[in-house]
Amino acid sequence: MSPTISAALIDSLFDAFGAVFTGIIFSAIAATLTALKMGNGPIWVFVPLLIVAGTLRALDLRRYHASKSTLTAEAAAQWPQRYQMRAMIQAAVIGLWCSVTLLSSDDAVVHMICLSVTTGIVAGAAARAYGRVSIFRLQALLMFGPVVIALALRGTPYYIAMSVICAAFLAAVVQLSANLHRIFMRAVVAREREAALAGQFDTALNNMPHGLCMFRADGQLAVMNRRFNEMMILPGDLVQHGADAPDIVSACVSAGSISADSGRMILSEIENSQARDIITTDPDVVRARSLSWTFQPMTDGGTVVLLEDITERRMAEARISHLARYDELTELPNRLNFRDEIGRLLAASDDAERLSALLFVDLDQFKQVNDTLGHPCGDALLCAVAERLRAMLRPEDFVARFGGDEFVVFQQDIESQEDAAGLARRIVDRLSERYQVDNHLVEIGASVGIAMTSAGVSADTLLKNADMALYRAKADGRGTFCFFRDEMAQTVESRRILELDLRRALANEEFELFYQPLLNLKSGKISTCEALLRWNHPTRGTVSPIDIIPVAEDMGLIVDLGRWILRKACMECMKWPEAVSVAVNFSPQQFHQRDVLSEVRYALEVSGLPAHRLEIEITESSLLRNTQLTHDVLSQLHAIGVRISLDDFGTGYSSLSYLHNFPLQKVKIDRSFLEGIDTDRPLTLLRGVARLSADLGMSVVVEGIETNEQLELINAEGTVTEAQGYLFSRPVPSVRVRQLLNASHGCRSDEEIFAVPSRSIASGTIF
Ligand code: C2E
Ligand code: MG
Ligand code: MG
Repeated sequence: MSPTISAALIDSLFDAFGAVFTGIIFSAIAATLTALKMGNGPIWVFVPLLIVAGTLRALDLRRYHASKSTLTAEAAAQWPQRYQMRAMIQAAVIGLWCSVTLLSSDDAVVHMICLSVTTGIVAGAAARAYGRVSIFRLQALLMFGPVVIALALRGTPYYIAMSVICAAFLAAVVQLSANLHRIFMRAVVAREREAALAGQFDTALNNMPHGLCMFRADGQLAVMNRRFNEMMILPGDLVQHGADAPDIVSACVSAGSISADSGRMILSEIENSQARDIITTDPDVVRARSLSWTFQPMTDGGTVVLLEDITERRMAEARISHLARYDELTELPNRLNFRDEIGRLLAASDDAERLSALLFVDLDQFKQVNDTLGHPCGDALLCAVAERLRAMLRPEDFVARFGGDEFVVFQQDIESQEDAAGLARRIVDRLSERYQVDNHLVEIGASVGIAMTSAGVSADTLLKNADMALYRAKADGRGTFCFFRDEMAQTVESRRILELDLRRALANEEFELFYQPLLNLKSGKISTCEALLRWNHPTRGTVSPIDIIPVAEDMGLIVDLGRWILRKACMECMKWPEAVSVAVNFSPQQFHQRDVLSEVRYALEVSGLPAHRLEIEITESSLLRNTQLTHDVLSQLHAIGVRISLDDFGTGYSSLSYLHNFPLQKVKIDRSFLEGIDTDRPLTLLRGVARLSADLGMSVVVEGIETNEQLELINAEGTVTEAQGYLFSRPVPSVRVRQLLNASHGCRSDEEIFAVPSRSIASGTIF
C-alpha cells in the first residue's frame, strides 16, 4: 500500500470529531436518563465512565490533527492502534451499560432509551470507521453483542425477536462498513492515480522544448507551461490572475516578443479554431528569433497553441541550402546552382538569334602547386583564380566552380564566336599571370573549352560539349582554348562504344595472347617468349594493344584484364620446354594495385609455373610513381624468384639510376635505338647502356631487330645477351609458338624455324 493511501486511511479514522463529540453527549445524557428513571444506583457508574471514555477519544482526535502535519511515517503508523484501544474501551462501556440496563429493568422507556442510543452510536460508527473495517467489526461486536445477548436473556418471545433483529442489524452494519471501505479505497486509489498523472503531465508540460498554451472554448486560459512564459518573457503573475487569449497575446506584444500585427494574427487563429501553422519573426532585430506557432483545435471547442523557437533550425537550413548551391572555398556558385541557372536562362531565351557561350576553364599545373606547396596554398590559389575570373566578367555573365581546378563561365548575349574567343584568350592570359600566394610566387596556366549555344540546346549538352572542347584544348598542348566541333562528339562516342566493347570482350574472353620469342644470342635458342595482347573483333578486325591498353587503363579495366593475361600466359608457359620463360607486360596502374604480389603468387600457384620462369616487364613510368612502394613490391617479387625486366628503355627518361636502384634483372633496349644505328651516336649510346647493364649483372635485350645488318651490329657489340624482332619471328598465336619451341629445343635447325637468311649465319651470327 502506498504511503498516500495509508495516510488517507489513518486520516479517515480521525476525521469526524463532531460525530464523536455528539456520541459522548448523547450516551452520557441517555445513561443519566436511564439511571434517573430506574432510580438505580449502579447505572450511575456508567455516566462518568462514558464521559471519560468518550473524552479520551475526543482528545486523541484533537491531538492527531494537531500533530498530523509533522508526523513521520512510523509515528503515523502508531495512531490506528491508539485509536483502536480507545474505541474498544468506549464500545465496551456502551455495550455494558446497555446490556446491564436491559437486564436490570423492565421499564419499556428505559429499554427504548438505551437501545435507540446504542443503535444510533453503532450506526454512526459504521459510517465513520470505514477506513479500518477490522476495528469497526470489534467495536460493533463490543457495543451490540452484549445487547443481543441481553435481549435474548430476557426470554420473552418479543425480546427474543428483538434480539434476532438486533443481531441482523449488527451483521448489516458490519457489511455496510465493509462496502463503505471498498468505495473509499477505490476513491483513494483513483485520487492517487490522478495525482500521479497530473504530476507527470505537469513535468512533461514544463520540460517540453515547446511553449504550450491551452485555451478553453470561451477563450479563457486553461494551461500555460513554463517554456511559453520564458519564450514570451511574460510577467509571472499573469496566469495567477486568470487570463484569456487577448490578455496573453497583448502581454506577448507588450513584452516585445511579437509584433502587434503578429499578435492580431495569432488572436484570430485562436478564435478561428482551425489547425494552422504560422511563423512570426522577432521585432527585436538583434535577437532575430523565428517562432513557429501551431494552432490545434480541441474536441470541446478550445484551442491548443504550440510555440517553437526555430531560429537555429532556419539558420541551419539556410546554411545547408547555401552550401548545397555555393562552393564553400571560393563562394562561387557550384555545379548544381550553375546548371539550374543556365537551364533557366536557356529556357527563358526564346530568341534563337541570341548567342551565348559556355567556357569550361581548367587550370594547368594546379596539381603540382597543391603537391609541392600544400593544400592551404592550393586553396588560396583557387580563391585568387576565382577573384580574377569574377573581376573580368560583365555583370550579366555567370561564373561557377565545378570542383577541383575546374571553373565554368557563361557569357551571355554576345555578337559572335569572336567575343567568346576574346574572353577565352583573356582568361588564359590573366590566369597565367603570376600569383603571390603566402609568400610564394606561383605560376600556372589555363585551358579553355568553348561551346556556343544553339536553338533548343540543353544545359547538360552545352556542358558536355564544352568539356569535350576542353579535352581537345588540353591535348593540343594546354594554355590554349578550343571551340567544340561535332566530330569531337563522334570521337567521344566511338570511344564510349570501344569501352563497352572492351568490357564485353573481357567478359566473353574475346582476347587472345600472341607470343614473340626472345633469342639467346649465345646459344641461338629461344630463352623467353613475350606475351602480347590481341583482340580479334568481328568488325574492328585485329585491334592493336596500343589502342586497347590506354583505354583499359583509363577505364580501370586493366586490373581485370591484366589478371587474365597473367594467368593465361603462366598456363601457356607450362606447355613449353622448361628452359623457356614467359614475359608478361604490366602497365603502371596494374603494377601499383595493392595486391600485385598476391596476384602473381596466385597465377603461379594455379598454373604450377615455377617463379623463375616468369618475367614481368615494366616501363619507366611504373618506376617513376611512388618510388618506395615500387621498390618494395619489386623486391618482394624478386624475393619469390620472379624476374623483372625494364621494357622500352631509352624512350622515357632513360635514367641510369633506375638500373642501379631497383632490383632489375633485364633491360630491354627499345627499338628506337636501332633507328639510324649505322650512324655513330645511337650505337655509342646503345653500347654504353648495354655495358653498364651488363656490368650491373643484368641481361641486355635489344628489341625490334628487323634486318641482318642490325643483328650483326648488335652481335658485334658482345654485351647484348638477347634479341627480339621480326627478323626472328613476329608475335604468333600460342599453337605456332609451341611449334617454334619444339623445333628450337628439339631437333630441327634454326634456319628452318626462323626465316633468317643463311648469310647471317655465314657471317658468324648465331643463326
Ligand atoms: P612492348 O612490350 O615493347 O612489345 C613489343 C612491341 O613491339 C610489340 O607490339 C611487338 O609486336 C613489337 N615488335 C616486336 N618486334 C618488332 C620489330 O622487329 N619491328 C617492329 N616494328 N615492331 C616489333 P605490340 O604487340 O603491338 O604491343 C605494343 C605494346 O603494347 C607493347 O610494347 C606493350 O607495351 C603493350 N602491350 C602488349 N601486350 C600487353 C599486355 O598484355 N599488357 C600490357 N600491359 N601491355 C601490353
Ligand atoms: Mg614488352
Ligand atoms: Mg618494348
